[in-house]
Amino acid sequence: MQWESVIGLELHVQLATQSKIFSGAANRFGATANTLACAVDLGLPGVLPVANEEVIRMAVKFGLAIDASIAKRSVFARKNYFYPDLPKGYQISQYELPVVSAGKIRIQLDGITREIGITRAHLEEDAGKSIHEGFAGFTAIDLNRAGAPLIEIVSEPDLRSAAEAVALMKKIHSLVRYLDISDGNMQEGSFRCDANVSIRPEGETRLGTRTETKNINSFRFVEQAINFEISRQVELVESGNEVVQETRLFDPEKNETRSMRGKEEANDYRYFPDPDLPPVVIDNDYIEAVRKQLPELPEQKQQRFIETYGLSEYDSGYLVANKDSADYFEAAVAAAPGQAKPVANWIMGELGAALNRENIAINHSKVNAAMLAGLVTRIADGTISNKIAKQVFEALWDGAGGVDDVIEKQGLKQLTDSGAIGRLVDEVIAENSAQVQQYRSAAPEKRGKMIGYFVGRVMKKSQGKANPKQVNQLLSERLENRGGG
Ligand code: ADP
Ligand code: MG
Repeated sequence: MQWESVIGLELHVQLATQSKIFSGAANRFGATANTLACAVDLGLPGVLPVANEEVIRMAVKFGLAIDASIAKRSVFARKNYFYPDLPKGYQISQYELPVVSAGKIRIQLDGITREIGITRAHLEEDAGKSIHEGFAGFTAIDLNRAGAPLIEIVSEPDLRSAAEAVALMKKIHSLVRYLDISDGNMQEGSFRCDANVSIRPEGETRLGTRTETKNINSFRFVEQAINFEISRQVELVESGNEVVQETRLFDPEKNETRSMRGKEEANDYRYFPDPDLPPVVIDNDYIEAVRKQLPELPEQKQQRFIETYGLSEYDSGYLVANKDSADYFEAAVAAAPGQAKPVANWIMGELGAALNRENIAINHSKVNAAMLAGLVTRIADGTISNKIAKQVFEALWDGAGGVDDVIEKQGLKQLTDSGAIGRLVDEVIAENSAQVQQYRSAAPEKRGKMIGYFVGRVMKKSQGKANPKQVNQLLSERLENRGGG
């Protein structure tokens, strides 16, 4: 049987506010344990939470960016459960009336665009963190994260493969970075994913029983966890068993998911509106004011890159996926007008490879936009060849100095003096008389290919510095000229 996989994502995105969602305590990663939780975060008797307006503004911003509906009145609710990292015994979240609902996000995969429904996005507070490492035999709790603001984004079960799920996750990651509402730092847990997965026979419209794999913190792990879950479910069903609705955990070391708790053990959260917090009331003026603050979003930027710089769908898509690479690109093109395509190629090629190799973000690149612009300009004006440019790039990366400096100091200027190139051509012709014979006795239509051999020799003699176009031209002139050889 052919199986179709069905996936819905829940993303927990930590909002980059100064202070926490309901208190004035600092919202910051990496501080000494238990130094950032105040009485409100700890739920001590007699304190009252106050909603941080910045958090509301960020949620509205996100909602507008995904064409969602913004609730004029949304309500904070208590989600009751017991866990050591939850000092109050309940988490303040939103339940029936979330601030954002019914949005959509487009994803592109293999040249196909699909629209994925976003059911809702609601605000909630984060819990503290249990620490197992370094505390043999017991668990330590760090409450610094308690009360950190989160927006939980829930998609419709519209995704049909692990690759689509990753594309959605990446798109949302890019969006929250563009909107400047989260740092999206996955290592630090600012962007975590729960993946709901089910399968059903191809053509079936009802949904199958799903499992939920929790707290996956990298794009690669999401892809692996979903693919593992799909195969596991197909195997189960094909061997006559049933998928059980349950919560699972992904183990990146074994590349598998494991059952964490079943449906029977699922909590009854006894949600009810938090009596300490008034409903959030948002009017049209507020929404319009936030709309005015929206930056250019990835799709708009992509369209502009295509129209202004003549880039392809693919190139522009690559550049805008990360706001920093889009900014880098624009800074480089501003310094090297007319060189958009070569700049894009360098970013996607040599620069991208170097950044990957050393795991550096583009905004910390060792070759900055101005340097890349200089390099591309020297290729365009014929000072260096494309091939030599790679050598210059490596030198720039290693901190050897400015572009012109490196070209000068390392003697990399392209050889364009036709007298000098002509002498090299003559040498090559003299040293390869057998090949010259062959060339001259070959049919004219075959000679185009054969000339490559001589070009290579001349280039080598010039240490890659001869202008290839001139080499080609001089060679064909002299090879055709039987008397001169
Ligand atoms: P809960 O809050 O208990 O996790 P929801 O109904 O809110 O349950 O669903 C959470 C996520 O699970 C959503 O992203 C939704 O798209 C997805 N989902 C629901 N049913 C299925 C299913 N049968 N297969 C795959 N994903 C599903
Ligand atoms: Mg869930």
